[in-house]
Amino acid sequence: MKKQVITDDVIRQVYLKHSRIDYERKLKTSYLVKHGYYDYLKNRFDDSSSIAETIYRICYKIKKHPVCGVCGKPARFINIKKGFDTVCSNECKRETGIPEITLDYIKLSV
Ligand SMILES: [Zn+2]
Repeated sequence: MKKQVITDDVIRQVYLKHSRIDYERKLKTSYLVKHGYYDYLKNRFDDSSSIAETIYRICYKIKKHPVCGVCGKPARFINIKKGFDTVCSNECKRETGIPEITLDYIKLSV
């Protein structure tokens, strides 16, 4: 089997469809290992919290982990669909005055 050289462009070709990340089934470790992406993704960024974050950052060319708009710590990664939050934690979310979406909140607003 010919071993393909993996680059960011290869990853973008695999995951980006019509400028959106198409990730179904492709986040499984078995898929990543089988196609030889796993080690590349694992070692791509030293400030990434997960494989999903790494794929997201490669696709959207985000070189540095974004920081929290309130305290400056690394912003939290929500998921591969939504990307990064603007803050690092619920504590900082409260500081921004944007209500958290909790069950209580949903009940109150009905
Ligand atoms: Zn924060």
